[in-house]
Amino acid sequence: MAFLPRHGAHHDFPPHLINYRANLWAQRSLGVRQVLAPCAVGGLSTDVAPGDLVVPDQLVDRTSGRASSYVERGAVHLPFADPYCPRVSGALVAADPGVRRGGTMVVIEGPRFSTRAESRWYAAQGGTLINMTGAPEAALAREQRMCYAALALVTDMDAGAEDGEGVGQEEVFALFRSNLDRLTGLLTAAIAALPDPDGCACSTWADGLELTYEVP
Ligand SMILES: [Zn+2]
Repeated sequence: MAFLPRHGAHHDFPPHLINYRANLWAQRSLGVRQVLAPCAVGGLSTDVAPGDLVVPDQLVDRTSGRASSYVERGAVHLPFADPYCPRVSGALVAADPGVRRGGTMVVIEGPRFSTRAESRWYAAQGGTLINMTGAPEAALAREQRMCYAALALVTDMDAGAEDGEGVGQEEVFALFRSNLDRLTGLLTAAIAALPDPDGCACSTWADGLELTYEVP
């Protein structure tokens, strides 16, 4: 097992400046085949509340300007209709009966939080959760032929989802800290129960294709 804090050991890298390609490359280089990706999210829908743990099944990428692919030449088009590995997602859900399965995670560029109008718009388009790191991470993992599933901790309701002051950094960090034990317990249980990655479509999609980038 390898652990890589995406923001750096001392939270040095803000979400829009994380080198996502290097992070996924490093994991694959170590022999990692399945990635469990915990993250903090805002809630866009009244179906979720602060403190909830959600394993999303869909993603909307609203980031811009990030290096979002290893493909830099040729024709390699990643199948991405279902962005998360169903098998690893299943292991996360099975590890804690309180985990909610399903939901659409909207990933914004950040580092600022959304305006109320943006937040309401994402919710009206079907978004359940909002986050700043879920893309291009999920796609890069699959380009590297790794399984990838997200485990989202709802830390706040986004600006448009309630009438309060809007989301603030302190409440996000505090709620995340208070749920760390639960999160690590769940991850530990899920890791122990991970299915065999061999044969998963997260890897076999590239069988027979000529990839124009290296998979270490
Ligand atoms: Zn998979």
